[in-house]
Amino acid sequence: MADRFCVGDRVELRKQHPCGSRQWEILRTGADFRIRCLGCSRTVMTTRADFEKSVKKILGGDMPKML
Ligand SMILES: [Zn+2]
Repeated sequence: MADRFCVGDRVELRKQHPCGSRQWEILRTGADFRIRCLGCSRTVMTTRADFEKSVKKILGGDMPKML
């Protein structure tokens, strides 16, 4: 499977964060992902499998991809 997620991408999750936001920015990819809530800036570590299950859609990043 192609790697669909890149650092800097924004995603919308199925579940709303307690702050009210559903949008997160990807800070780190790999076996574990680190993501930051765009509503409250809290960061969360999650496994790739859990992350992929919780993503509703990929919104894309602000910056061009440089990999
Ligand atoms: Zn939040």
